Amino acid sequence: MKLGAFDFHLLSDGFFALDGGQMFGVVPKTLWEKKMPADSRNRIRLGLNCVLVDTGSHKVMIETGIGDKLDARFADIYAIDHSALLPAELEKRGIGLADVDVVINSHLHFDHCGWNTRREGGRLMPTFPRARYFIQRGEWEHALNPTERDRASYIEEFFAAAESQTEFLQGDGEVVPGVRVEVTPGHTRHLQIVWIESQGERACFISDVVPTRAHLPYPWIMAFDLYPLETLASKKRLLPRLAAEDVLVVFPHDPQVPCARLAERDGKIVVRGVAP
Ligand SMILES: [Zn+2]
Repeated sequence: MKLGAFDFHLLSDGFFALDGGQMFGVVPKTLWEKKMPADSRNRIRLGLNCVLVDTGSHKVMIETGIGDKLDARFADIYAIDHSALLPAELEKRGIGLADVDVVINSHLHFDHCGWNTRREGGRLMPTFPRARYFIQRGEWEHALNPTERDRASYIEEFFAAAESQTEFLQGDGEVVPGVRVEVTPGHTRHLQIVWIESQGERACFISDVVPTRAHLPYPWIMAFDLYPLETLASKKRLLPRLAAEDVLVVFPHDPQVPCARLAERDGKIVVRGVAP
């Protein structure tokens, strides 16, 4: 896919599943299960959607999936389905791990930074040997010292071994020309979304502000969010603008529609051209 002059690759690290109740917060199951049916363990299937942007001068990896370091017990709990694997998806497009210049993580939950590191001969090392990794300093510090409420979302082995290649951001900014991050609190305090822009075309990796298209309605907010009212404010600020400005939006966990353009109809934000 092209975005202006940039090559825009939507990549998958496979699928996993999380409890449907946790995924939809205050929304009753009778409503959410119509959109995303639960399995016998009340889990819903989710994608692990990542993006590789080739700007011509930089190859930028946005999110790194869930990786291959979870043991059998976790693989069962989270129903990990590696029918797609991020390194293989890159290779299929002729992109080697050493070709990636920049890695951006929206935040460091384990389903967003799995391939930041890999194990080789029992040692953990950065998966992308030449890349600079970009994360908000506040997210990094929180990931190393989470609260009792969100401890299960962080696995230090997934990100810490890439520290020497990491650049710690404090606030919004351009990472490379055409790729910019914007701090968008709610899911975590320091979550950053990613804007990509070339020749007037724009895309937004919206991360867990809107994990799937089922989360477009304003009150459909995950129970995981540490600051749900800030997620609500972020959605009300961002979504009408994304619709009005024809931005291509990437949903990190939608298992069927990883990206779409939005429209506002009767005050509701919907995906354009896709069944709701
Ligand atoms: Zn998350």
